[in-house]
Amino acid sequence: MTTAAVIVAAGRGQRAGGDLPKQWQALLGRPVLSHTLDAIRQVPGVGAIALVIHPDDRARAEALDLSGVTLVEGGATRDASVRAGLEALIPAAPDKVLIHDAARPVLREDVALRVLRALDLQEGAAPALMVTDALWRGDAGLVAGTQDRAGLYRAQTPQGFRFDAILAAHRAHEGQTADDVEVARKAGLSVAIVEGCEDLMKITLPGDFARAEKLMEGRMDIRTGNGYDVHRFGEGDHVILCGVRVPFDRGLQGHSDADVGMHAVTDAIYGALADGDIGQHFPPSDPQWKGAASHIFLEHACALARERGYRITHADCTLVCEYPKIGPHASDMKREMARIMGLDPDRVSVKATTSERLGFTGRGEGIAAVATATLVRP
Ligand code: MG
Repeated sequence: MTTAAVIVAAGRGQRAGGDLPKQWQALLGRPVLSHTLDAIRQVPGVGAIALVIHPDDRARAEALDLSGVTLVEGGATRDASVRAGLEALIPAAPDKVLIHDAARPVLREDVALRVLRALDLQEGAAPALMVTDALWRGDAGLVAGTQDRAGLYRAQTPQGFRFDAILAAHRAHEGQTADDVEVARKAGLSVAIVEGCEDLMKITLPGDFARAEKLMEGRMDIRTGNGYDVHRFGEGDHVILCGVRVPFDRGLQGHSDADVGMHAVTDAIYGALADGDIGQHFPPSDPQWKGAASHIFLEHACALARERGYRITHADCTLVCEYPKIGPHASDMKREMARIMGLDPDRVSVKATTSERLGFTGRGEGIAAVATATLVRP
């Protein structure tokens, strides 16, 4: 099963005030839309993302983190924009698609997962909240009547559909609709209601920005973990440090490839997740890890972080040794670590120090490494 997403960001939303359309206004220092993109990327299983923008916003969109994202220019109506997004996802051949409003940045993974799970049984599924307040009709500032709220829901997004079914529904559809559930229902698709979330508010009015910021700040989880590792020198003609082969007149001993720097960073990530260490996830008693390339461990830790909704925002590693000299290799190490972790190189630091010939590292008996990793769950 593959899942794709369409984020609809082509609207010009005037009610929110400000000089820019609401999805481009700042929320905690960056555009609303960049939070929405991050949230969709965190949904397990979501691969290709089509971001539908207004042609005037192309430069702004290109400044966003667009990993995994195809930019699509929207049409004159919301329906036309969604359709353009769906058409752009055809090469990805997804089974399911989530269609989400750019102005709903506070999307929790559990809501999206409820929608996706419901799609195993129905052609469509969407989150909604039961109306609990009394409903009135108003006229010129006076209550003109009441409305029975039984069976009424407030619709939210992401609305999920089997991809082929909603694509066909949009292709067949003409005219304006409120949302994709309406398009789906007009095509005869059944749409399940799943439990929405009060925090999944749509930024609409000027006061909504402050409310969304409060919700996001309240749940942002920032964690720091540390890692420490030591490997002893033995026979050999090279060492592997932070994924880079460095010629040397000795090697490092260990069960795996003894990449002490990569082990320290991996343990820092496990530490931030409060989930053990390399030895627990890859027991040295298990022969399958003998001589293993350490990127397997680091990739596992990074995948675990992502699975739990964390973004690794920074890793810093210090190698402690007199020899080999690290300086000439440090930028290669930084690049290689960043590549394995799927991060920009400016989020990874590799540096070195000697220990002034003191202690075991000073006597050249081995190499030590310390590392710190910072993880953020928005
Ligand atoms: Mg180790």
